[in-house]
Amino acid sequence: MNQNEIINLDHKLTSPSYSRDHNFVYKKAKGSYIYDTKNKKYLDFAAGIAVMNVGHTNPYVVQAIKKQLQLGLHAGFPDFYATTPLEFLKKLYQFLPKELNKSFFTNSGTESVEAALKVAKWHTKKKWLFSFKGGFHGRTLGSLTLTNSKPVQRERFEPFYPAKHSPYPYEYRWNNQKNYKSVTEDCLDQFEKTIKPIKNDLAAVFMEPIQGEGGYIVPPKEFVKGIKKICTENNILLCSDEVQSGIFRTGKFLAIENYNVKPDIITLAKAIGGGIPFGVMVTSSKIMDWVQSAHSNTFGGNLIACAAGKAVLEYCEKKKLDQNAIKVGNYIKNRLNEMKDKYEIIGDVRGIGLMIGLEIVKNQKTKEFGVKEREKIIKSGSNQGLILLPCGTSVIRISPPLTLTLQEAEKGLNILETSIKSVVIH
Ligand code: PLP
Repeated sequence: MNQNEIINLDHKLTSPSYSRDHNFVYKKAKGSYIYDTKNKKYLDFAAGIAVMNVGHTNPYVVQAIKKQLQLGLHAGFPDFYATTPLEFLKKLYQFLPKELNKSFFTNSGTESVEAALKVAKWHTKKKWLFSFKGGFHGRTLGSLTLTNSKPVQRERFEPFYPAKHSPYPYEYRWNNQKNYKSVTEDCLDQFEKTIKPIKNDLAAVFMEPIQGEGGYIVPPKEFVKGIKKICTENNILLCSDEVQSGIFRTGKFLAIENYNVKPDIITLAKAIGGGIPFGVMVTSSKIMDWVQSAHSNTFGGNLIACAAGKAVLEYCEKKKLDQNAIKVGNYIKNRLNEMKDKYEIIGDVRGIGLMIGLEIVKNQKTKEFGVKEREKIIKSGSNQGLILLPCGTSVIRISPPLTLTLQEAEKGLNILETSIKSVVIH
C-alpha cells in the first residue's frame, strides 16, 4: 500500500475523533528522527507529544524490554506479587520528595488523574474538585471534569463531577484584562473567590505546573507558591499533574520543583514508559489510606512497562538528560528570541528546559491570534522534515526528546525560521 492508500484506509477504519497534524505514515524512528513509509526523514520536535524523552527506540530501554520479554509480559500485578514493579518504584522514589512514597500504577495520563481524584475524594471525604481554565488533564469522564482547554473536548459529555475553575496566569495576554493589578494577584484573587463557597468541601486542586495543551504557559513562581499556601491553610490537597511536564523535561524531575513547591499528589505518564503505555499516581502513605478494592485495574504494574520505566529513569540519570534539557532548551529559547526581534508574527517565547512555546500572532502590537499563520508554519516545517505540534489557540510547542543535540536543535530551528519567513513574506 502506498502512503495515500494507508491514509484512506485509516480514515475508513478509525475513529473520526482523531485529529492528525501531519499527513505522513510512520515507518520507524531512532533518536531524534522519524522516517515515513517513503523513507523521508523528519526531525522530531514533538517527541510523540512529550513521550520520547529518552529518544526514539532508545537501545538501553529496548534492551530492558527484551530482557523482561524472556521472563513474562503480564503478571496480573493486582493478583500476584512481582519484583519488577517494585524495582521501578525504588528507582522512581530516588527522584521524588521523601513524603511521596506510595504509588498506584496506571496505563495512561488520564488514568493517573482518575486515580488521583479518587484518592483525594477517598482521603478527604469531600465532594468538590478544582482545576484551572485552559487546563488539560485527560479525556475520560472523571479527568474531563478537570479538562478545560477546548470546548469540543467537553461538548455533549456532561454531566461532570462537581468542579470549579478559575483563570491560569497567562501573563502574555493578561495585561489586556480590565482592572489589571498583576497577573499573580489577579489570578490568586479569582482563585480565592471561586473556591470560597465550596472551600470546606473541596478535596483537591489540580494544576499543571506549566500548562501544556492550553498553550505551554509558564505561571509566575509566586502564583504557584500562593496556590500552595491557600491549599495548605484550607486543608485542600494539591495535585501536580506532571503527565506532560515531568521526567526531567524542565530540567527538574517534576516541573513543580521549579517553584520550590511540594505537591500532595503527583500524576505521571507519557515519558515514564519510554514509549510503552504506562503511568503512575504517587502520594504519601497518609493520603493513600483507601482500603482493599477501593481502586484497582488489570494492567497496572505491567512488567514490560515497569521494566521500560526503570530503564528510562536510569538512562535519564546516566546521561544527565536534565542538564541537556536546560542547555539545549536555553539555546532554542535564545534563537527564538532573536527570531522574535526579526519577525512580527512571533508574539511570545516562553518555557523551561525543553518545554517551549512559541506564540504566533498577526502582529506583536495587537497580539491577535495567528491561527492560520501557525497552521502554515507547521505545514511548511512538515514539508521540510520538521515535526512541530500546536497547542493553545496559536502556539507552537517545542517538546523534543531530551537527548536532542545542539546541532539537531540548530537544524530544526533553521527549518522553523525558513517556515516563519515563508509565512511572513506571503
Ligand atoms: N494530563 C496532562 C497534563 C496531559 O498533558 C495529558 C495529555 O496530553 C493528560 C493528562 C492525559 O494523558 P493521556 O493522553 O495519556 O490520557
